[in-house]
Amino acid sequence: MPTDEPDLEAHFRPRIEAELAELVAASEASVADRGPVALDQQSVGRLSRMDAMQGQAMAQEAERRRQARVAALRAALARMESGEFGECAECGEPIALKRLEIDPTVVVCVACAKGGNR
Ligand SMILES: [Zn+2]
Repeated sequence: MPTDEPDLEAHFRPRIEAELAELVAASEASVADRGPVALDQQSVGRLSRMDAMQGQAMAQEAERRRQARVAALRAALARMESGEFGECAECGEPIALKRLEIDPTVVVCVACAKGGNR
């Protein structure tokens, strides 16, 4: 049987932790972009202020997506701690390795994702 759980964890944990570290760093680096737009009309004219507000909105949206991903990655690590990583949360069957390779944060197998296993 090639589905040895410690191997699965050894295979995916570094990848999950690397992505997590990258997201946390990106989040910290973008704090200023997401902050209040400067009201200083000397340095920021009306049009560039609109640009700045648009940039702020985009930075906030990017941050929202990052935080959702961070939560999914942390949940995957938590499932490793509890020994549930790689098991379908719906039916308990192993999740296909190929599916985990695409996204190690998935929690259900292909069949359950399609709604067919219940
Ligand atoms: Zn399933």
